[in-house]
Amino acid sequence: MPPLDSLRLAAASGPEEDRFAALLQLAEMYHAYSVDSAMTYARQGYDLALLIGTPRAKAMASDVLGKTYFGKGLYILARKTFADGLQSAFQSNDSLLVAHLANSNAVALTRDGNYEAALSNLLTAARIFEPQGDPYQMAAMKINIGSLQMSLRRYDAAIQTFEQALALSRRLQNDMIRIPVLNNLGSIYSTLDQQERALLSFREALPPEGEPLTDLHIPTLLNLYSFYTQRGQIPEGERAYNQAYTLAESSGNNGWRQQLLQRRGDMLFELRQYVRASEAYFASLNFCRMLNQPPIEMELQQKLADTYARIGDYRQAYDRLQAYQRINTELYTEASSLHIAEMETRYELEEKEREIARLQEEERIQQIKVYGALLVAAFFITALVALYSRFVLKQRAHALLATQHAEIQHKNELLETQSHAIQAQNAELMQVNEDLKLFARAASHDLREPLRTIRKHLQLFLRNNATESLASTDSLAFAIDGAARMDHIVLRLLDYARAGRRQGDRQLVRLNAVVDGVLRDLWRQLQDTQAEVEIGQLPEIYGYEVDLRLMFQNLIQNALKFCPPGRKPHIAIASRAVEGGFLLSVADNGIGIDPQSASKIFEPFHRSASPDSHEGVGLGLAICKRVAEIHGGSIWAEPAPGGGSIFWIRLPATPEVAG
Ligand code: ADP
Repeated sequence: MPPLDSLRLAAASGPEEDRFAALLQLAEMYHAYSVDSAMTYARQGYDLALLIGTPRAKAMASDVLGKTYFGKGLYILARKTFADGLQSAFQSNDSLLVAHLANSNAVALTRDGNYEAALSNLLTAARIFEPQGDPYQMAAMKINIGSLQMSLRRYDAAIQTFEQALALSRRLQNDMIRIPVLNNLGSIYSTLDQQERALLSFREALPPEGEPLTDLHIPTLLNLYSFYTQRGQIPEGERAYNQAYTLAESSGNNGWRQQLLQRRGDMLFELRQYVRASEAYFASLNFCRMLNQPPIEMELQQKLADTYARIGDYRQAYDRLQAYQRINTELYTEASSLHIAEMETRYELEEKEREIARLQEEERIQQIKVYGALLVAAFFITALVALYSRFVLKQRAHALLATQHAEIQHKNELLETQSHAIQAQNAELMQVNEDLKLFARAASHDLREPLRTIRKHLQLFLRNNATESLASTDSLAFAIDGAARMDHIVLRLLDYARAGRRQGDRQLVRLNAVVDGVLRDLWRQLQDTQAEVEIGQLPEIYGYEVDLRLMFQNLIQNALKFCPPGRKPHIAIASRAVEGGFLLSVADNGIGIDPQSASKIFEPFHRSASPDSHEGVGLGLAICKRVAEIHGGSIWAEPAPGGGSIFWIRLPATPEVAG
């Protein structure tokens, strides 16, 4: 079968559209040989249609697949498939397809005996299709409508429909339409017992004399066989039947052979030739099994059971009915299982879709979760960083505070220690002061008193014994002088002790008055030495007058004292304002000061290199230093530019009381 081979090849590979067309053609062609094979191809075609995805492809595939279901007696599936196909056909906007599917759908409905629904379906489709319809398809549709009307015994309407179809087919000169229309018209007229008309129709369906018959003529011949047989024209009937069977056999068409043999059985049954009828049915059954068409097999088994019952072979009749029952059960089971399988597939698909949707949703949620988690993590990280920075800052601040605190504490401790030390020093000082006071008192009274007694008695002794030897007199004079010196030392020590004790209250002291007083006290010395004293404008300061007087006294006395013999002492006392106070100066033209010992001369008991040459105990400048200090000032000495010495005293404007 070359066309089949090439179709199989086309169905196996190549562009989708070509494979699809080949698969559908294969399904249609296999219908006459094996409905199972047809169904396999139809299913493949249907799958490909889903892949192609157009409503048109789906409608076309549904039509072919529905037909194979129908052939297998899977009517529920068939009807559903056709109905789906019809919907796709509407979507495709292809009126031809709509008509086609409407036809198929109608056929399926007729199987359920629902001719009315089928007819109304077809009429609707025809109305949609008619305005732009292809005449061939229109005619094909009319055949189906007419057939339904025939089934509903609306013969007038059916004749009218077929006449319209016939007019179309004549115009088209298409035997594919014309022959079935004429067959149907003939059948109606035959039923209505209009024999002439019936025969005219049948004859018109056959080719003119001399032209060959084809498969297309088999139905006509079959109708003629029935027509003649029913009217007792057996030879004419047999001739028609044989012609038809020869055609079916030569084309190898199992479908026709099965149908022809079945019709022969029916005819023989009507003629009450039951044995021959059963043989015809059996032969038909064989082809039916080849085709694997359970609904027809069931029909044949039933007919065989009837036939055997007529013969009186009840055992055979029973076997046939059992066979019928078995097929019925199988068909039912197969239909159910197929239906269930399909439902399962659909359910699974839906489940899968749901699963995919769920997974997608989950993924979305997961993504949201991930983003959310990331955001939360980012937030936490930020918060942690912020917290950490705060923590670090806090730590640092704490550390800094702790350090500062420690420093403060350390300073406090130091201060405390210092204050303790100061307190201790103060206490010590107070003790020293106290001791000094005691000492001063002791010195002034207890020490000077016996000295005075010694001096007085020595002087008395000297006066009373003036005649004694000169040597004794000198010794006594030395002793008296020693006692006097000792008294002088005691007095100086007393001055020194007093100098640190802030004698009297602090008050505003005019330094010019102080210096004048000192000069008055020293008038004899000044006169003796013919000293010249220059006194500048001195300030008024807030201080201890007695102490300041002692200071100036010592300084002026030293200036007189350390003036070489024969030189007239010249003393200049001056003052100038400096930042925060005054700078006083006492300058002389004396022996001057060795710069190396300039600082040492202020230490107590420090005296010049030749102590004998000058009277003194080395306390004068120490007293001056203490007086300057208790006024918050200082004192130092320098060699004067023109010879002599210059003593500088720096005093604050508002003297602070030093410890
Ligand atoms: P003293 O009781 O010896 O005068 P001072 O304390 O007054 O003791 O003086 C200490 C020493 O400073 C003196 O011995 C002397 O060497 C030196 N000195 C004090 N004043 C003068 C001065 N005006 N010129 C030179 N040297 C002086």
